[in-house]
Amino acid sequence: MAHGSKQVHGIMKRIQLAGGNLLKTQNLSKFFDGLKALNKVNIEVSKNSITLVIGPNGSGKTTLINVISGFYKADEGKVFFENKDITNKPPHEINKLGLVRTFQIPQPLKKLTVLENLLVAAENPGEKILGSLKREWIKREEELVEKAFRILEFLKIDHLWDTEAYKLSGGQLKLLEVARALMRDAKLMVMDEPIAGVNPVLAENILSKLVELKERGVSFLIVEHRLDIILKYVDYIYVMANGRVIAEGLEDEILNNPKVVEVYLGATHGEA
Ligand code: ADP
Ligand code: MG
Repeated sequence: MAHGSKQVHGIMKRIQLAGGNLLKTQNLSKFFDGLKALNKVNIEVSKNSITLVIGPNGSGKTTLINVISGFYKADEGKVFFENKDITNKPPHEINKLGLVRTFQIPQPLKKLTVLENLLVAAENPGEKILGSLKREWIKREEELVEKAFRILEFLKIDHLWDTEAYKLSGGQLKLLEVARALMRDAKLMVMDEPIAGVNPVLAENILSKLVELKERGVSFLIVEHRLDIILKYVDYIYVMANGRVIAEGLEDEILNNPKVVEVYLGATHGEA
């Protein structure tokens, strides 16, 4: 029974993928001094999905999302977002299109309150309010504060609005990262290890929020290595090793794939 529903899910997923994607990479490559950190990577993120990238340490996961979000330049290949070629555009331009990579809150911003962190996130570099009338400026501020509170309420951290970020717990900080991306109207949120260092209960909390956001139309590309917690929340999985995608599919297909088992066992032995 469970197997049957998985199969239906798999077929649905493929129809959805065929029907259109939000993000697509085409033979994307990145070299560091001859090291092929990314070697002809082809992935797709379909609309309204949580797509996961896994793989052992050093397999190229962070490099992949840095090239996609414009923080590293691609050496070969292309990135398409909503069918637009965004390869090697500057990060702020990519961001403006709705592809938002989340980042840990940097030290200087930790002195600001939660609300201030959201307001700062909403500012577009190069699009300052210079020259606009004071009235308009006040109106925009009011709108942004309202938007910020809607987001904080949704994430259930509105009671912390006036708390400095450095006082937040690890899990609350992760939610603040999500809140900042939502202030930027993310259509696709790209996240590097969103539950790293977060206890299992809070991690489940954060992931359920991402699922709720997915239902409201936000899609996700997530890199994570805590498979025990995250697998049940995701719609599609890519496995990387040595800069290449070595497997893709649904949870069952991935976990039963000998190539995947091999890279994980190999990595465990190597790191132990
Ligand atoms: P992962 O996130 O899967 O652990 P990374 O994408 O961080 O892997 O790294 C992939 C490979 O690229 C590794 O061998 C790493 O040492 C190398 N690498 C990543 N970033 C850089 C960089 N800025 N300069 C040189 N080598 C890098
Ligand atoms: Mg990494």
